[in-house]
Amino acid sequence: MSAHIPETIIRKYALQNAILFNGHANEKAVLGKVIGHFKKNGISLKELIPLTQKIVTEINTLSQTQQTQELEKLAPELLHKEKKERTFKLPPLFHAIQNQVITRFPPEPNGYLHIGHAKAAIIDYQYAKMYNGKFILRFDDTNPENAQPEFYAAQKEDLQWLGIHWDEEYRTSDHLPQHYRFAEQLITQGDAYVCTCSPDDIKTNRYTKKPCSCRSQRPYDNIQKWHDILLKKQDTGILRLKGDMQSANTAMRDPTLFRIINSSHPIYGTTYHVWPTYDFAGAVEDSISGVTHPFRTKEYELRDECYFYLLDRLHLRKPYLMEFARLSITGMPVSKRKIKPLIDQGIVHGFDDIRLPTLRGLKKRGIHSKAIEQFVLSQGISKVESVVPFGLVEAMNKKLLDPITQRYFFVPNPTKIQVINAPTITKSIPLHPTNKTLGYRKISTSNIFYIPAEDVKDLKVGEIFRLKDLYNIKLVSTTPNVICEFMSYDLISDSRKIQWCTQDHVPLKLFIPHLLFHGEEFNPDSLEEINGFAEEALKQVSLGSVIQFERVGFVRIDKENNNLVGYFTHK
Ligand code: ATP
Ligand code: MG
Repeated sequence: MSAHIPETIIRKYALQNAILFNGHANEKAVLGKVIGHFKKNGISLKELIPLTQKIVTEINTLSQTQQTQELEKLAPELLHKEKKERTFKLPPLFHAIQNQVITRFPPEPNGYLHIGHAKAAIIDYQYAKMYNGKFILRFDDTNPENAQPEFYAAQKEDLQWLGIHWDEEYRTSDHLPQHYRFAEQLITQGDAYVCTCSPDDIKTNRYTKKPCSCRSQRPYDNIQKWHDILLKKQDTGILRLKGDMQSANTAMRDPTLFRIINSSHPIYGTTYHVWPTYDFAGAVEDSISGVTHPFRTKEYELRDECYFYLLDRLHLRKPYLMEFARLSITGMPVSKRKIKPLIDQGIVHGFDDIRLPTLRGLKKRGIHSKAIEQFVLSQGISKVESVVPFGLVEAMNKKLLDPITQRYFFVPNPTKIQVINAPTITKSIPLHPTNKTLGYRKISTSNIFYIPAEDVKDLKVGEIFRLKDLYNIKLVSTTPNVICEFMSYDLISDSRKIQWCTQDHVPLKLFIPHLLFHGEEFNPDSLEEINGFAEEALKQVSLGSVIQFERVGFVRIDKENNNLVGYFTHK
């Protein structure tokens, strides 16, 4: 019956699947491939299913090395076939013309960038690239109370780390004289007025839709007052757009365009003391810098009306304003406003704390910038607000790193074991089960090993287990010392495989980040520390690189106070 179903074909697919998934083939996945292969031959599922099941079970008892060796003989082309790289692409832009799209990323230089900024910057940059257009980096530094000198450079470094290149860079503060001219134009046209009401009155009037007396001043008087403010002859008052105090949209009830801020500016010092608001500077800058497709997060949607009305009154070109949802991640603060107090109050160790979604925190933890890019692109530009789990970033990172990451042994909470009749050997162990280009490390063993305390707890006296990639031993006794006995070399299927290290090891402290918040509550256990031993070869690993500790997870190796530490990236 099965004579016309070449078993080798099923075997090939089972081996390939096993190798792709750490030695364990998935029956359904293999069956999918097999059905695809045989469907033209008119072979019934009744025949294929049991045979595939049988072969997958067989393949899964083989070691990863055996699986690789067999596939190398049967079908080397499958072995070397790269996992298909899924490419994530943004949808086309409306009204986009090749070579004419201009986008911008407008950070406020008041902190380190986080993954939410990365979302904005990557989308802006990718669209400019998609249409062979131009991408502008614009520092929105028109609030001197917030802007700080060090962040201009720091934010650029963060963007460079993301692989983002800008065609042009400028500061909004460079354009203040031009902003003042636009203000004067609005006042002259009767479209803006100086309001000297108290902040409380302004708020109440906005709420009750009541115009104040300032609103009916003549343009001539407004110009006088505006000049007095600019010349510091008058030290109170704001410039407001004459919008519509009756509007259902509160953003249109005569929004503020300029206000007095006396703090020193990181670039211009005390040259200016009258600064534009986001409503004014955002719209004007997008327009005059030629931006065709500015993106904003959805929370600004109500302000769009004001954006277009202002440009209309100034007779300026209107860009195609685009919106996407703000990025939120479960248990992580994706906002400078929320991150800053955590740092200031010492709740986290700094802007690069591995629990934070700042780009520096993510980098320190071992997240690759490409994974952030793929995550952002996979999320797309939907306007639907949602809170996503950080696991999505981890999954992207793992997909990138797994095939190219060296694996080592790390023994958390090490327990010493003595092995009776232990052969003294030097073993070459591959640094990756399938990617042989990563090479090997050599470990010389004696009769003393260290294995995780947690595994010792789970083992029963008499149980045979395997020191991973070495040999099988039997647990003889656990008190007063843990004693084992050498058994055999060959792999025994279904036996536990435990990572180990010898007396030549390096102590390493592992820091494991957990969610900073459970709901609104700070999680006091958000940073876990585990002490352990890593195999000696770890001394050769260069600081800053990400490796995988078998049965533990991906870890970025670093040094703190001259001690080797690991930052846990993810499983
Ligand atoms: P924060 O809440 O972090 O202070 P912000 O909007 O004040 O955010 P800016 O430096 O003004 O920070 O932001 C620069 C750009 O990054 C803006 O276009 C903003 O919309 C975008 N951005 C900031 N945070 C996020 C986020 N969580 N998701 C998506 N985009 C964001
Ligand atoms: Mg802002």
